[in-house]
Amino acid sequence: MVRLVLFGPPGAGKGTQAEVLSERLSVPHISTGDLFRSNIGNQTPLGVKAKSYLDAGELVPDEVTNEMVRVRLAEPDAREGFLLDGYPRTTPQADVLGEILAELGVELSAVLQFEVGEDELVRRMLERGREDDNEDVIRRRLAVYREETEPLLDYYGDKVVTIDAVGTIEEISERALQAVRARS
Ligand code: AMP
Repeated sequence: MVRLVLFGPPGAGKGTQAEVLSERLSVPHISTGDLFRSNIGNQTPLGVKAKSYLDAGELVPDEVTNEMVRVRLAEPDAREGFLLDGYPRTTPQADVLGEILAELGVELSAVLQFEVGEDELVRRMLERGREDDNEDVIRRRLAVYREETEPLLDYYGDKVVTIDAVGTIEEISERALQAVRARS
């Protein structure tokens, strides 16, 4: 059973890799960004709370995000493993994830860190053209990543496996699968 956190700056291809790995490993892909975007699309109360943060490239407050993840991880499909994409992004979120996993009596298999240089990241994001992918918002999201999220690499220590995320989708997913096999 495999329980993964995918980690890496916006634009590193986490979402694409998450989809491939989710299929290959038969575990649900849980993307907090996708959950927020679908709530925003459906204009749910959660979506209404989250929208201004996504638009600005800022993080949605931890309480809101943690509660959403707690509910999602309690669903039956997540009992057989999962792949978290875009969560945790702050130390308090990592603490809450630790509590949730302890309550469920399970542990993370690994934290896969997707590594890509900064110029390549901006280039990829501008190409992707999502609504929050204009240059100011991209730069803000990268800064938020450096400040709030990157410190989690130390937090997770030995759990972190670094994957070179430059190459074709298949090359990168093969590297990731090898790392997962070595860990689970
Ligand atoms: P993503 O699709 O992972 O790039 O996330 C898009 C946006 O959703 C981020 O810029 C944040 O505004 C919000 N978001 C996604 N995941 C989180 C999280 N773990 N904590 C706070 N905000 C998040």
